[in-house]
Amino acid sequence: MNESVSQDYDIIIVGAGMVGATLACALGQQGFRIGLIEVNEPNFDWPADSVDQRVSAITCASQKIFESIGAWPLMCKQRVSPYRDMRVWDATGSGSVHFDCAQLGEPLLGHIVENRVILFGLHEQLQKLDCVDLITPASVTQLDIELEQARVALDNGQQLTAKLVVAADGSRSKLRELAGIETSGWSYEQHGVVAHITTSKSNQETAWQRFMPDGPLAFLPLSDDNSSIVWSTTPEHADQLLAMDEADFLDELQEAFGDHLGRMLKCGPRAAFPLRMQHAKKYTLPRLALLGDAAHTVHPLAGQGVNLGLADAASLAEVIVDARQQRQDFGAHRILRRYERWRKGENLAMLSTMDGFKRLFGSTQPLMKWLRNTGLHLTNSTSPLKNMIMRQAMGMEGDLSRLAKGQTLNEEQ
Ligand SMILES: Cc1cc2nc3c(=O)[nH]c(=O)nc-3n(C[C@H](O)[C@H](O)[C@H](O)COP(=O)(O)OP(=O)(O)OC[C@H]3O[C@@H](n4cnc5c(N)ncnc54)[C@H](O)[C@@H]3O)c2cc1C
Repeated sequence: MNESVSQDYDIIIVGAGMVGATLACALGQQGFRIGLIEVNEPNFDWPADSVDQRVSAITCASQKIFESIGAWPLMCKQRVSPYRDMRVWDATGSGSVHFDCAQLGEPLLGHIVENRVILFGLHEQLQKLDCVDLITPASVTQLDIELEQARVALDNGQQLTAKLVVAADGSRSKLRELAGIETSGWSYEQHGVVAHITTSKSNQETAWQRFMPDGPLAFLPLSDDNSSIVWSTTPEHADQLLAMDEADFLDELQEAFGDHLGRMLKCGPRAAFPLRMQHAKKYTLPRLALLGDAAHTVHPLAGQGVNLGLADAASLAEVIVDARQQRQDFGAHRILRRYERWRKGENLAMLSTMDGFKRLFGSTQPLMKWLRNTGLHLTNSTSPLKNMIMRQAMGMEGDLSRLAKGQTLNEEQ
């Protein structure tokens, strides 16, 4: 990466998380001059036998995006875990669904990847790009939108300008706040407890999810044949789960999940994250675009959050590259609105679906209980419906960007 930081860029991206780093790779590989601002200095030095607490279910569409920018082989060299089956069932009834990749004629349904492995692959690719300056540790303190450019001030005293500023700084986006963009949404009154769990039986390359009244409990398969859990539950219960000693925690986990994976033997460090549904009222202003969690956050029950953000990044990159190709000002609002029109509807549909699922499965009313169990039975026995849901969950439906189709940004449509 360049030591000397130029003050003027084509594009400033705030946030070098999974979504911001993906956009920086895609556009940097097209020769755009990019200032990538990250508050937490990335650290890729971890003990070989440790597992990241945070993992993501990566869809086939997201894998294609990573392949298109050359980051996927680097992630695979670290470790990624394919999953071929998914089993979902309701704790309060007999309804269940079994999704199987063979039924779809696909080799797998997706991969579970540690977040730090995703970031490692992306940052390795970024380091090869002289036109990308990673400015870290640094945070934005001021944003001024002018006619021809946007100007940002950083907490280290630097002043940067660019034709376009992108907010990829997560759900509590400072840039969104500075731009005065409001959000709608609410707290789910749930926290997601995450941990690495060693079980006596193999994970069977299967993603398991049991819906309980307080929230879903997911076991996601890892390459060490163990699993990473996301246990969504009330904030009070989450606090208790974090405070318990390991043996008590494993006992409670066993009781909640049953013996599908044998005995719960060991647990890594535990952490909890508050869960919110949040949607920005606007994704764009002149010279500004929001994407990833800065634009939307969704319940993790279907593992879609980062996948939506990666789809945003791939779509925005395409809109920008096409505008430059046609000698248009890619920071102009009418160009950025193309990105907003493309992504906002699809994201809203996913947010609403996840919200509906969360309510349906969280209800203790007899009618809702009947409805969800009947729905699960029906889905399981109706192949076209099941296949449609699966293809949607794999990111293979909708208006896909060129990168998500495995093409290059320059490819003719
Ligand atoms: C428990 C849990 C499980 C999940 N599981 C899945 C899953 O299986 N699959 C899935 O698709 N999604 C999952 N998600 C959602 C997923 O983690 C998020 O959607 C994803 O992290 C969003 O990525 P992002 O890059 O937009 O934001 P972030 O990951 O939040 O990255 C934002 C980046 O911006 C930086 N930053 C923040 N503020 C500033 C600032 N002011 N200046 C500079 N830099 C800044 C941060 O340090 C960070 O690097 C899960 C979420 C939770 C809570």
